[in-house]
Formats: sequence, C-alpha cells, structure tokens
Amino acid sequence: MKTRNYGPLLAEMEDIYRRRSPRSAALQQRAEAVLIDGGSHTLRLLQPFPPRIAAARGAWLEDEDGHSLLDFWQGHLANILGHNPPVVTAALAEAFAAGEGLQTGFADCLQIEVAEILSRQTGSEAVRFTTSGTLATMYAILLARAFTGRTLVMKVGGGWHGAQPWALKGIGYRGDDGGFQGVESAGVPAAVTDKVVVSGFNDPDALRTHFQQVGDRLACFIVEPFIGAGGFAPASREYLHLARELTRHYGALLVLDEVIAGFRFRAGSLGALYGVQPDLATFGKIIGGGMPVSAVAGRRDILSLAGRSASKRVSFSGGTFSAHPAALLAARTMLTYLVEHEAEVYPHLAERGEQARQALTSAFKEAGIPVVCTGHDPSILPGSSMFMLHFPYDESISLDRPQDWLNPALCDIELGQRVLDLALLLEGVFLLHGHGAVSTAHVESDIEHLSAACRRAVRRIKPFL
Ligand code: PMP
Repeated sequence: MKTRNYGPLLAEMEDIYRRRSPRSAALQQRAEAVLIDGGSHTLRLLQPFPPRIAAARGAWLEDEDGHSLLDFWQGHLANILGHNPPVVTAALAEAFAAGEGLQTGFADCLQIEVAEILSRQTGSEAVRFTTSGTLATMYAILLARAFTGRTLVMKVGGGWHGAQPWALKGIGYRGDDGGFQGVESAGVPAAVTDKVVVSGFNDPDALRTHFQQVGDRLACFIVEPFIGAGGFAPASREYLHLARELTRHYGALLVLDEVIAGFRFRAGSLGALYGVQPDLATFGKIIGGGMPVSAVAGRRDILSLAGRSASKRVSFSGGTFSAHPAALLAARTMLTYLVEHEAEVYPHLAERGEQARQALTSAFKEAGIPVVCTGHDPSILPGSSMFMLHFPYDESISLDRPQDWLNPALCDIELGQRVLDLALLLEGVFLLHGHGAVSTAHVESDIEHLSAACRRAVRRIKPFL
C-alpha cells in the first residue's frame, strides 16, 4: 500500500467548497442540531457537508447556493429516467388532483396490476410488496429459513443487501487477514451473524468448497447477479449457473438480489439474461418509479408461507405503507413505460453509459493515472448504464473481484471516494464514491460536461499522487 497524503488537497478543496456554498454550510449547522450528522442516510452526508438540493430535474440538480450539478447518483440509482420524469410526475399529479394517492390501508387494483407486470417480466409465480430493499431481503431470508427448516445463510464478501441482521456481515474488506469476515454494525446479535457464511463473488472454487462444507445446512445463498457496492460487475455465467446447480443439489434456495439489477439492463430481471431462474428474487429501486416500493417475487410454494393458511407462517406483512397507492401508481407507470419503450431505453442507456465510462477513464489515463472502470461486461450484458472507478496503485495490478476492488493494499480507496467526490463536486458533477449511472435524461452534452469536469478535477488531484 502506498501512502499518499491527501490532507492538504482535501483542506484546500473543503475551503473552496465552504466559500462557494454558504447556504449549504449554514443548513448543515441547522441540520446537525436535530439530525445525526445532519441527515438520515450516511451516504448522502458528504464531508464536510452535503450540497442541500433545492430542485432536481432530468440529469441535473440545483443546490441551495444556486449551483447546477450534473448528477450520476440519481436517487441511489433508482432514477433510470432521470429525476422527476414527467411521465411519472404527471400520473401522480393527476391522482393527487383527484384527491387520491395517500395510504388507505385497503387492498386495491393497483397492486394487482403491478404484481402482474412484475411476474410477467421476471418469470415469477407470485409477488409480495414491501417498502425497501432491506426489508425485501430480510423477508426473503426468513422465507428461505422457514421453507427449508435450516438455519445457515450464505452471502458473498462485498455483497450489500441492506442493513438487516443477516446482511451486515462480510461487506467491508478488512485486509488479507480479516478478509470479509467483519460485522458492519454494532447491536447485531452474534447468534445471527454466526449463522452467516461468507463466500467469494465470482469465485466458483470457493462456492464449491462452501457448499461441500455447509451445503446441507444452508437455507439459502443470496447473491446479486450484478454486484453493486462490491464493485459494479456482473456475475460470470459459470458462477451463476454453478450457484443454481449447487443450491438445487444441496436443497438450499437461490435468492437473487435484483434491487440494483432489476429493470436496469432490460425490462425485467437480470437473472433471465443468464437463463437462471432463482427460487426467490428481490426487487426495489427502479421498480418504484422514484417511490418506496420493493418486492419479493418467486416460487408460489415458498411465498405462500406468508399466507394465512401456512402452518409455519412467516410474518411477512409488508408494513403499514406496503403497497402504498401513490407508490404503486409510480411503479405501474414506470414499469409500463420501461416495458413499452424497452427497445429505445436500454440501447440509449448502453450508448450513453459507454460514453460516460470512456470520458471518465480517459481523463485519468491521459494524466498517466492507472484507472479501471467497472460496470459493463460485454460477454454478459448487452450494454450498461453503470460505472465505478477503481484506482490500482500500479498499472500491472489486475482487479477482478470485490477483494481486489475494495482492497486498500491494491487500490487507492481514498482517491476513489472522498477525494474524487469533492473534486468533481467543485466542477459541477455529482458521483458517489466514484460510481454512478447514466439515465435516459443524460444527453451527449452532459457527457462533454462530465469529460471537461473530470479533466479539471484530475489536474487538481495529480500533484498529490
Ligand atoms: N440490495 C441491494 C443489492 C442494494 O443495492 C440495496 C441498496 N443499495 C439494498 C438491497 C437495500 O435496499 P434499500 O436501500 O431500498 O433498503
């Protein structure tokens, strides 16, 4: 690991940022008086303080200080059509104008329609809605444990499935000794995390070994077909098919977490592109059209455990705001749009995504800074809107898996996260921790803006490397 001292650069950038954003700075003080660290989601609380957003439309944001920001974070990657797409806001405006849209606490037609679309597009037999990806993965794991009568749950190192007890192990990389065995949160019972086995993403040998060791005690293997926080890469074909084969062989369930991947690369599940049908899948983000909607979808015999006639009933009730009318109206509008416009939306995203990856990598390469951009793999995906930058210390270092991308001995994590985020923010671009996605609202001139901003940011950073 090289030691690069970014202290002076960060101090210089923070100073410029404070001077150009006095309103956001003042709002942070006010926020900190009533909110922990000034907000409700740690990722949004950029240091020294986040830009407070006043308006968001398409690819662009405006902050309280009047700065325009080109946004690639797009609502935690939920906004595939950009911020506040008129197709969705018009449907909501019409409902609210008619005096409808808030929670009723009753069953309605909307949830039938959204479940029908979701089932059709993902090959699922049944669906149940809830309000966050975190809850969806938690319910999927409860269902798997109840269905199989087994206790162990397997995930991969670097896999993020939300902050719920079974998913808080094996996220951050702790160096060669600790690997991915750490637990990310205080307060989680060891009785739960001791039952979580961490395997390796895109590592067929580790998967075989783990199944040989614990396969007959595993309730499920939960994995993202496109890993998000762990590095932005699709599972290899061999790996996902092996996961399907081994889970079947050992009587464990395969849960595909498609909270990021669902409707991101096609108007449906990513698993279908591999020809892999999971036992359960979880969806969130894009499916809600900008509203809090998530779902567990899959085999009816498993989801039926949430039903009232189940003998070993899983208390998957979804919560007060599950199947919320306005949220499901946004979901129906978004999913219908994506299905009807699939032939335009995804090629557009693929083309713009490629341009964004090119713009980002060339800015660093031209300055002689080794960079790797993940997010697309043409051998698996037809195209991709996603990108994540990684900064290996050396050109010769090859990076293939979460334990490479997240390893501070191989990659300059501080550059990819704190330094780059702030340097780009000063140039009118918002990326989070060096990753993001284009939406259909990003046009070619936005890529030119990204490219110019990135070159200026690199000029600022280069002397500190
Ligand atoms: N699964 C994956 C793959 C995710 O990326 C996330 C959120 N980033 C979650 C689950 C949790 O979803 P939510 O933030 O909606 O609770």
